[in-house]
Amino acid sequence: MNKKTYNIFIIGCQMNKSDSERIAFSLESLGYFPEEDIYKASLVVITTCGVRQSAEDRIYGLIPAVRRKNPEVKIILTGCLSAEKLVKERLGDSVDIWMPIVELDNLPSLLGEDSLGGHERDYLNLKARYESDFSAFIPIGNGCDNFCSYCYVPHARGREKYRDHKEIINEAKDLIKKGYKEITLIAQNVNSYKSADIDFPKLLKMTNDLPGDFWLRFSTSHPKDMSDELIKEMGECEKLCHHVHLPAQAGDDEVLKRMNRKYTQGHYLELIDKIRKSLNKQAGEIVSGFWMPPVAISTDIIVGFPGETEKQFRETVKLFETVKYDMAYIAQYSPRPNTAAAKMSDLVSEDEKKRRDEELNDVLGRYNLENNKKYLNRVVEVLVDSKNSRGEMIGKTKTSKTVIISDTTKSRKIGDILEVKIKSVKNFGLYGEINKDE
Ligand code: SF4
Repeated sequence: MNKKTYNIFIIGCQMNKSDSERIAFSLESLGYFPEEDIYKASLVVITTCGVRQSAEDRIYGLIPAVRRKNPEVKIILTGCLSAEKLVKERLGDSVDIWMPIVELDNLPSLLGEDSLGGHERDYLNLKARYESDFSAFIPIGNGCDNFCSYCYVPHARGREKYRDHKEIINEAKDLIKKGYKEITLIAQNVNSYKSADIDFPKLLKMTNDLPGDFWLRFSTSHPKDMSDELIKEMGECEKLCHHVHLPAQAGDDEVLKRMNRKYTQGHYLELIDKIRKSLNKQAGEIVSGFWMPPVAISTDIIVGFPGETEKQFRETVKLFETVKYDMAYIAQYSPRPNTAAAKMSDLVSEDEKKRRDEELNDVLGRYNLENNKKYLNRVVEVLVDSKNSRGEMIGKTKTSKTVIISDTTKSRKIGDILEVKIKSVKNFGLYGEINKDE
């Protein structure tokens, strides 16, 4: 194996995907070439996730398998589990380099290579080799100060650290110049962004005001930092896609308190109300030839948090019935080491967690179908991001609704923004065809 090749195996969230793009650029600067087959690469980087036990368990199967098939391989473990003592003990020598992502600037010396000059202390300012040539994440910060009682992220990534706004704007400008059609500002907690006198509402406006034709998104927000000023700005940013992901995690105030979320159901519902008022000013109208859908709201929920009674779970069901979410990522609680919740007693049984998960999914599907029916016979813009096995294009609306387009014409390609007329809808998807008036 003479050629230096690498494979990055990504587990987890958008932040890990974004980090991997920076790792890829750094490796290619050191002369490594991408290798699609993880078992053939001379260097394997695994970006780990500590959110759920199932994500952690994946590395215990993967790493020995990679080493068995390729004994010469060098393995770097990064991401949320790279500083976790128990994981280190369990994997021992099978990992060559444990690299917390904030040490990415140190990669050349970790690999015994010469640095290519220019020492960048903040890894977020390192260049990225973007996965896509039409949609990109721009990391605006790393870490979290919130210490939700179930979450491992603050332990793994450390306290919040935000990137200089000039670096962020320069990266955005560069992407727009290259023709990127979708830009997503990401951090664990985007809306607590602060750098010098620039806060998140200001950063959002500065990005929105950049010249060019692009869709703007951000993720993920914490309800406690969703200020009136930000909600007002969101309503005024014409490039901002009308999809807001606002993790609730639970509907019951007592459970929210034990989760250390710092808001109540009442406060959360007020926010949803304000967001809808701010972003729905033109909903239902035809704007620049397209139907303007109502803002889509999605959330994250944990069912079966320690001590969650049936009555408390009903509050989460009530929340779903009130908000009528467009999407929800529902997780059955699993304890993470070193978190406050891992020490809590009164655990909910696995069967009960599963039942609550299924019930919420049913409620979600019911209301989502109601939301999706509003799209019938409407013409919307769809950014194509993949194709299915039948050659049909799959894409997303500005409200992040998945659309399957019954058109296999070769001239349309991934990365195109198409005018699509929605012809039928299901609980979790829209089906359309290219607008004949196009
Ligand atoms: S806000 Fe809470 S759930 Fe989100 S990363 Fe921070 S501690 Fe974890």
